[in-house]
Amino acid sequence: MRTSWQERFADTSDVLISEQRRSTVIPVLDLAIGGNDFVTIAGPCAVENEFQLMATAQRVRRAGARVLRGGAFKPRSSPYSFQGLGRDGLRILARARKETGLAIVTEVMSECDVPLVAEYADILQIGSRSMENYSLLEAAARSGRPILLKRGLVATIADLLRSAQFVLQNGNTNVILCERGIRTFDTTLRNTFDAAGIALLKQITHLPVIADPSHASGHRELIAALARIGLAAGADGLIVEVHPDPDNAMSDGEQSLDFAAFDAMMAGLEPWLALRNKCLDGVISGALQVMEAVG
Ligand code: PEP
Ligand code: MN
Repeated sequence: MRTSWQERFADTSDVLISEQRRSTVIPVLDLAIGGNDFVTIAGPCAVENEFQLMATAQRVRRAGARVLRGGAFKPRSSPYSFQGLGRDGLRILARARKETGLAIVTEVMSECDVPLVAEYADILQIGSRSMENYSLLEAAARSGRPILLKRGLVATIADLLRSAQFVLQNGNTNVILCERGIRTFDTTLRNTFDAAGIALLKQITHLPVIADPSHASGHRELIAALARIGLAAGADGLIVEVHPDPDNAMSDGEQSLDFAAFDAMMAGLEPWLALRNKCLDGVISGALQVMEAVG
């Protein structure tokens, strides 16, 4: 029987849980995103230089991160801000991957750059500002790389699902949804973290969902708490900004963790991860029961 969510999101039916598809697990190197493991992606907002990225890669790997993030093409709202190192940044990411074995996720902003970025990245990030750039979504989907799709700044859950559907329709089912905060009336923080959105996405879609506590809050003091909330809401992982010297970062320093704070965040997640592993079977069967109950 069709559920009310399926009726409400009828034009995105391929991304919804169905009889045919309960969950999508995305293989990335030796990882399985959306599987039983909780995957933490970490690294600087932007790749600034080789030393910064290598040092960060080594430290986040030691703390338990499985994927390295770092923007080479940066969507900056001011034309006077650092725009990223472009191809040089991609080369530095490739070196970090070789040295640490970490998979790489990096943003692609233009459909023209998809072949270049796909050559270096294990996962292509579609940033919030690009979530509704359909020609970019199509080109990124066709690259065959997994897509990390960030929710737009003012996108509803339905908008996010439509963009995901767009990727699936272009032959790529490997989509990771990312809740990174949305704009609301409350401007106290950079954005408003939609934990309910994570819970809902986990209940109605078969796609992996990750939380981005960095962009969601904009304040490094809040990252650890939001990471725990994301995990408790059912996320399959996190994407967190980490920098060797956040106060001097070229972008998003105020929301970046230094190495010690990242270590502490990861250690603080341990008891929650143990609980998650214990409950995992219950969560999955609970979600299926919800789908059936709302029918
Ligand atoms: C980023 O990940 O650094 C970024 C620009 O994210 P968002 O698109 O969510 O703002
Ligand atoms: Mn950033």
